[in-house]
Order: sequence, then C-alpha cells, then structure tokens
Amino acid sequence: AAKRTGKNKLVTYNSSHVQRFTNQIQMETELRKAILENQLILYYQPRLELSTGNIICLEALVRWNHPQLGLIAPNEFIPLAEESGLILSLGEWVLREACLQKARWLEAGILNYQIAVNISPCQFQDESFSDKAIQIIEQTGIDPAFLEFEITESSIMQNMDTTVAVLDKLCNKGISISIDDFGIGYSSLNYLKQFPIHCLKIDRSFVKNIHSNKDDWAITNAIIHLGHALEVQVVAEGVEEWSQLEILKETTCTTIQGYLLSPPVSAIEIEQTFHRNNNKPVMIS
Ligand code: C2E
Ligand code: MG
Ligand code: MG
Ligand code: MG
Repeated sequence: AAKRTGKNKLVTYNSSHVQRFTNQIQMETELRKAILENQLILYYQPRLELSTGNIICLEALVRWNHPQLGLIAPNEFIPLAEESGLILSLGEWVLREACLQKARWLEAGILNYQIAVNISPCQFQDESFSDKAIQIIEQTGIDPAFLEFEITESSIMQNMDTTVAVLDKLCNKGISISIDDFGIGYSSLNYLKQFPIHCLKIDRSFVKNIHSNKDDWAITNAIIHLGHALEVQVVAEGVEEWSQLEILKETTCTTIQGYLLSPPVSAIEIEQTFHRNNNKPVMIS
C-alpha cells in the first residue's frame, strides 16, 4: 500500500521496484506512456468448479512490464492510476486486451472459458463506463456472455442510482457481475436483492485461516450458504493449501481460485498448462 504525506503525495510503496521512481509525477508520466506503448500485460488465473474439476473462468490480472524495472504488480500502480485518473484509459486497455485474447482463443478453438475483468470503483462511477465497455466489446466482436465484471462492494455503495443504471445496462447485454473481495467492504446486504449479481468471491482473508480459525470458518460458511440461497456462484479466493480445500468442500463451496490450482500466469502459460492437459488442471487429473 502507498503511504502518503500531505496532499496526494506518494512517498513510498512497500516495493523496491517502485521506490526507484523518483516521484509520483515520474511514475504517472511513465504509466501514461506504458498504456500507449503496450507495456501492460494481462496474466490469467483460473477458477475451478469443484463438482466437475473443470476450469470455468479465467480472471485477467494486469501487470506492468516496465522496460527497466521488470514486472510490476497491480497493487503498486493501480492506486496511482486511480488517483491520477489514468485508471479510465488503463481499464479500457485491460477490457480491450481481455476481449482480444478471448477472440484469439475462440479462433484457435481452445480455452473456451469466461473471462473475468476487474473494474475499479473509479471506472464504475464514470458516467460513460457502461457505454464505453459495450463499445469495446462490440468492436472486438466478443459475445458479452463470455465476460464477467468483478466489482467491489465499494463500487456498488458509492452511488446507488448509478449502480442500478449501470448494472441493468450491463446485465441486459449479457455480462455477468461478481462481487470481488466479498465480506471486507462496508456494506449492507440489501444490494444483493436489488441488483443482478451472478457470483460472490469470498475474500482471501477469510479463506486463509479457515482450517484454524473458527470465526473465519463461520464467516466463510455463512457466505457460501448465502450464495446457495441466492442461487449465485460462490468462489473462494486465495486457496493455497489442501487443508483449506478440504474444508471448503465440506462447507459446500462450489468454485475456487488460488495458488493451489495456479497463480496468475501469462496467456502462453495458460495455453501450455491447461490446454495441453485437456483443459483440466494438473492437481485434479
Ligand atoms: P483481486 O481482483 O482480488 O485479485 C486477486 C489477487 O490475489 C491477485 O493479485 C492474485 O494474484 C492474488 N492471489 C490469487 N490466488 C492467491 C493465493 O492463493 N494466495 C495469495 N496470497 N494471493 C493470491 P494481483 O494480481 O497482484 O492483483 C491484486 C489486485 O489488483 C486485484 O485483486 C485487483 O483488485 C487489482 N487488479 C488487478 N488487475 C486489475 C485490473 O486490470 N484492473 C483493476 N481495476 N484492478 C486490477
Ligand atoms: Mg478480482
Ligand atoms: Mg479479490
Ligand atoms: Mg481486490
């Protein structure tokens, strides 16, 4: 996370990489250039359906492949992108690239999964967001049913009128909506009955100690059963260990994501690992 002193001044990130930018202006300038010059790259992390052992979705996660500094993680530049407004063009790049990659996989007849794209609250609250998103999808010729937008509770809660309008528009087009990091936002559960939500992604902070902490287990279990009752998909994020997976199965969790299955990897690695293996993850086969 970024530490700030005074007004919007980025002093340091917890990363050796980004400390090497001399200041926020420099990083912002370079990030603007990075978007134009294709220095961004999408990695993909699979989501596994436990009942079938099939991958059902790939989450697109952006990285910045900086010419000198190498691969930079999103937590190190998304906050700056949000603060500077660059998130709007960055987000458009991400959506377009995810759609283009989906189109390439479709044409090759492989990896026929949904693609999940993370949407920042800043994007979501931008008044032209839904129109721009739909335009990009139409330009790339992708069936919107292949797309899921991951939004956070804070996106939803910022402005309910906007949220209703935007979600209706997206859902009418056939785009699925998931709630990312579910459980850690401040929010009422009321929105779950107001909006067309397809999936709840249980934040990894609850999953982490599910095998050793009764409270984490109780919360995870409650979210899973809430999801069943609402007839939405429930994904446990950040599954790293077999012991976590065992308990998630016991609590009737339907889908998982996490390092146990695969970290986010490049499109080529996804093709090599999962397509060659008949679309089944190695851990299951
Ligand atoms: P997120 O959407 O909640 O994504 C999950 C994050 O958890 C990813 O980090 C992923 O690599 C990490 N993760 C997955 N499985 C495990 C696990 O088993 N253990 C642990 N410790 N971590 C795991 P990543 O890729 O660094 O992304 C961090 C956050 O940056 C994302 O959280 C998302 O909020 C944001 N982000 C990433 N790409 C984009 C993007 O294209 N647009 C926007 N607006 N935000 C993005
Ligand atoms: Mg996400
Ligand atoms: Mg998450
Ligand atoms: Mg997150």
